[in-house]
Amino acid sequence: MARYDAAVEILKKLVAFDTTTAQSNLDLIAYVQGYLEQYEIKSHLIYSEDKTRANLWATVGNDSCPGIILSGHTDVVPVEKDGWNFSPWQLTEHDGKLYGRGSCDMKGFLAVCLAHVPELVAAKKQTPVHLCFSYDEEIGCMGVHSLVEDLAKLHHLPKIAIIGEPTMMQLVRGHKGKMLVSCTVSGHAGHSSAAPQHLNAVEYGARAIAIIADHAKNFAENGPYNHDYTIPHSTMLTTLADGGIATNITPDSCRFVFEIRNIPEQPAETIFAEVRHQVENLFSATTKEHFPQASFSWKVENRYPGMAVDENSEGYQFVKALHPEVAACVSYGTEGGIFQQEGKIPAVVCGPGNIAQAHMRNEYIEKDQIVQCSTFIEKLFAAL
Ligand SMILES: [Zn+2]
Repeated sequence: MARYDAAVEILKKLVAFDTTTAQSNLDLIAYVQGYLEQYEIKSHLIYSEDKTRANLWATVGNDSCPGIILSGHTDVVPVEKDGWNFSPWQLTEHDGKLYGRGSCDMKGFLAVCLAHVPELVAAKKQTPVHLCFSYDEEIGCMGVHSLVEDLAKLHHLPKIAIIGEPTMMQLVRGHKGKMLVSCTVSGHAGHSSAAPQHLNAVEYGARAIAIIADHAKNFAENGPYNHDYTIPHSTMLTTLADGGIATNITPDSCRFVFEIRNIPEQPAETIFAEVRHQVENLFSATTKEHFPQASFSWKVENRYPGMAVDENSEGYQFVKALHPEVAACVSYGTEGGIFQQEGKIPAVVCGPGNIAQAHMRNEYIEKDQIVQCSTFIEKLFAAL
């Protein structure tokens, strides 16, 4: 119970920092740094290019053997103007729930981890615990890359990263990856009455979008499949499309955006390469000759890899022993795939709160979830 009270006290402080993504999180980071300093724990900060945001990592214990990572992001999604019953920046308890932006996604987890630091320090465990707190997760896991890169300075690669995104404390062993791509089609404009003399960018955009839809249909009908997922195959769809400037002008430009959500065994890069190849073949050699400006230009707007933990790894076995219930796979993404792919560190997701409350008005976390997370962290530390 003492740890629960400590966690709520810390959560109050964390929620009070407006760390909406792309705004500064430095006040929150300074608070965490100060808190850890009380226990003589040194923090490493890795700043964003413009120095307004920072990742923090800190090791409790000695880097004398492979440790475990407790990881979370410090940023939160923007607050809706209306519809909040309590101040989003002031943790409010009501009916067994703690309300506030970020209470669930995911300052609740950070608070529980920090609340257990004093007991971890006192226990003087052999295995180190690395706290990894990132920025700019909510705009496509942008901040964590430099943190994962910095972890290479450790003498021993950690054996597991536990990402505390809200899973109702269920152990999640895999999630899909995501790639968001924009495409601009360049054609040739003119009076629409002379359409055959022009190159209609919107129509070529439409043909490209149809190719994307065909690929998506093929994933559904022919796989590859992974039945660990509710939707057991990769998905792909166009979500934005825009082109043309007037009803009587052949449009010379069209832009559309599509996303790929891939199962970990089917890399998004491969899907993108196939789509791109097929779309670029839409312009025949003759068309290219007549309209040298005819082109599709592509931009990967953001991406994060899928996560599929190596179930035979020592780290996964360690966590699984503490959490014997069946581990799940989910469709939403986390920083776990980046720890796994870029850091070569096996990753799982397990944290307090329900993903259904994340990114919502009146975001809350149930008090019981804080208690359950606290119990998990206690068990975890005892097993080190
Ligand atoms: Zn989150």
